Amino acid sequence: MFDLVIANGTVVTAEGIAHADVGIRNDKIAAIGARLVGLQTVDASGMLVLPGAIDEHVHLQMPVGDVTSSDDFRSGTVAAAHGGTTTIIDFVEPEPGQPLLAALEERRAEADGQVAIDYGLHMTLSRADDETLAQVPACINAGTASFKLYMAYEGLRLDDGGLLRALSTLRTHGGRPLVHAENHHAIIYLASLALAEGRTGPESHPLTRPAIMEAEAIHRLLSLAGVTGTPLILAHLSCALGLEEVRRARARGQTVWVETCPQYLLLDEGEYQRPGFEGAKFVMAPPPRSAADRAALWAGLAAGEVDTIATDHCPFFYETQKTRGRHDFSKIPGGAPGIETRLPLLYTHGVRTGRLSLERWVEVCCTGPARRFGLAPRKGTLAVGADADVIIFDPERRVTLSAGGLHQNVDYTPYEGWEVHGYPITVLSRGQVIVQDGEFVGEVGHGSFLETVPL
Ligand code: MN
Repeated sequence: MFDLVIANGTVVTAEGIAHADVGIRNDKIAAIGARLVGLQTVDASGMLVLPGAIDEHVHLQMPVGDVTSSDDFRSGTVAAAHGGTTTIIDFVEPEPGQPLLAALEERRAEADGQVAIDYGLHMTLSRADDETLAQVPACINAGTASFKLYMAYEGLRLDDGGLLRALSTLRTHGGRPLVHAENHHAIIYLASLALAEGRTGPESHPLTRPAIMEAEAIHRLLSLAGVTGTPLILAHLSCALGLEEVRRARARGQTVWVETCPQYLLLDEGEYQRPGFEGAKFVMAPPPRSAADRAALWAGLAAGEVDTIATDHCPFFYETQKTRGRHDFSKIPGGAPGIETRLPLLYTHGVRTGRLSLERWVEVCCTGPARRFGLAPRKGTLAVGADADVIIFDPERRVTLSAGGLHQNVDYTPYEGWEVHGYPITVLSRGQVIVQDGEFVGEVGHGSFLETVPL
């Protein structure tokens, strides 16, 4: 006898599809099979039963200059849950000179008691001096085994020497780099040129971050990682030229995993031509690019060259926060919301169009991220002994996306008015129903810190 049985659904994992019941006891999956009997039964006839999704790249309540991303741990994780995401990985950004473990403790104190779902943290290495790098083993011991490295953004970025030192240290200790690859100096130069010429609107943003300079940064990064022998994850790949660099590095024998995001698969540079200041809603880095780039990323996903779809969720209110850059696009807070819409968008535009199989959809949104951060087999799949993080997904439910109907704490969605066909209906986190028929019934504070582990 199980506590709960999800009966008669189509169970989808990265390995295959089966018509089966899922039996849950306490917080774990206890059986997957036929005619299971539970104290409670949820009928999932006609539904897909999926592992809870993992979003390995989100920025909740993140300070950026003098503004802070508008979803806090509470609203952001509730929104995530509505979209079928049951695990997020956010970031620790230590202050200059702050010990990394102290920053980790502070960040955990912000999240604990506020999160509706489980969460992990990447440690940001914005310095690569001996004193900072000496703290890497302690971070790994404390459950933060992945490290964000930036090649752009003053105050965060590492130069080539710093990258080499950081990559080498991470190689030694098994820490996993997640890297933002763009050419910092090109961005600064092109932005200053645009501003000097009076091109101050959001339409200038993509012109200052061209694909060729993202590809240059990726080439340089992978060359440095080739020297140190460090496997890494490339964050938010946006362009075909960058994917070519990844192919070359893999052909040389390097291990590199590629993350992209829904915005690079579904949006393009045309968004910046919207009237007035509207393009600011799409100011993010890297920017969405051309139709050809989108096609290359879709093909890469299907072919197994692109490994993960995360969101880089980093929302700012259009009316009160994005407007910081009304007269200077370089001051528009960079980032966009997406934590809630990933699965339905990818189902609609990936699975329904035949560009992704059901299994591949689950692999890139759930199973792969769990494996790469050492959260498997507890997270990311439906298997006996795994946490009972489960989505009941109605493949026929049609929803028109709009900021008003979503739960993200922000006044717009890049997908306003888009109809999706397929939506999460009921979501469980460790055996607890936290979203039922589209209503949040969980509790904030239910989520707990997950240790990522070196692989
Ligand atoms: Mn990011």
